[in-house]
Amino acid sequence: MDKNNMENNMAPEDEKYTAEFTVYKEDPDGGYSAPPPPAPVRQQQTQRPRKRVTREMARRRQLAAIGIVFFILILIISGCAKACHKDDDSSSKSGKGKKGATETTTSTIAEIPTQQTVTEAATEPPTEAPTEAPDNSNVKLTTREIFLDNVGDVGISVIQVYPNGSTERNEVWRSSDESIATVDSKGYITARAPGECYIILSFDNNPNIEIEIKVSVADGTESTGNMDAAPMHAAPAPAVYDNEGLHYIDGVLVANKEYTLPEDFAPGLDPTAEAQFNKLCEAAAEEGYSIYMGSNYRSYEEQQELRDNFINWYGQEYADNYAALPGESEHQTGLAIDCASYSGTFSETQEAVWLAEHAHEYGFIIRYPEGKEDKTGFQHEAWHIRYVGTRVAEEMHRSGLCLEEYLGLS
Ligand SMILES: [Zn+2]
Repeated sequence: MDKNNMENNMAPEDEKYTAEFTVYKEDPDGGYSAPPPPAPVRQQQTQRPRKRVTREMARRRQLAAIGIVFFILILIISGCAKACHKDDDSSSKSGKGKKGATETTTSTIAEIPTQQTVTEAATEPPTEAPTEAPDNSNVKLTTREIFLDNVGDVGISVIQVYPNGSTERNEVWRSSDESIATVDSKGYITARAPGECYIILSFDNNPNIEIEIKVSVADGTESTGNMDAAPMHAAPAPAVYDNEGLHYIDGVLVANKEYTLPEDFAPGLDPTAEAQFNKLCEAAAEEGYSIYMGSNYRSYEEQQELRDNFINWYGQEYADNYAALPGESEHQTGLAIDCASYSGTFSETQEAVWLAEHAHEYGFIIRYPEGKEDKTGFQHEAWHIRYVGTRVAEEMHRSGLCLEEYLGLS
């Protein structure tokens, strides 16, 4: 609104004048320390009229009075604006004339509502932003790539960190190609045919997050019961390799923090251990327990990678306790298998209890038992079993010794 507009709006009706005046009085400029003095003028209006004065004259007088009031008003506004301007900005050009000051006033009046609008608009978006863009960088899985050797093998990528607001109840799993691999509601991936596909993880309460896990199923031969002839309590001792740098004691290959494996020792998963594990799973299933093969054979290089990941995810101390250095891991022997279960975190399941009671019947030992941490060098791992054959497994189970104690290494 500029000066001209203000003048044009000053129609000679009292009503209009009052309305216009009210607008200025209530303007939130903050600079009106003293109210404009229209009252005396209005009093004059009521006192002056006499009986002889014609209606036309009264009308003119009214107009004149309005004009005077308006002029006073302009002067007051200009004065106030000048004062305000000085307060707000000490470097402002105070030497400008009345006209300049008036312009400043109008611009100040015009700016205030704009600033309010901007402030309101600026406060609104942050309340909407979190729902529109959830932070997916927080989500962490143990792996984004899974290799399954044989049709029927089961693998899993464990969620380490959930997105904001999500728990395991919000997990939604699906496969890009169910002829290659299927996935259940808890993320267990089962190989169906050789090939590659993706398992896609999403969360029903975080619709913008979608994580792909690449699954490769190798052209392995399906392992079925070639061991049918062998009675349950006659699991043979594992094969003995004559590679240089291997440490055998009493026919048992040792791999720990003291006796390490050579980098080029890469036997793959031991077929006898695998067959015995399948029998163990079948027996568990008959009693209502679900045990599946998780991580098994790992090469020297794969162990290095896993170790690095553990350090990144959990820190040095955790990695030292749960992830062996390459060469120190039993998984490189091809005789160690990590058990998985549909029931949840394995160490908390009934499957873990069953495994501790029955693993020896199939030639396995719980390699890192509770209370033997200072002997084995590792924390208790209810899921990690090691194939040693029936003779050693039965003796160790009966004695309650860990492998280091049994072999006289501790
Ligand atoms: Zn393990």
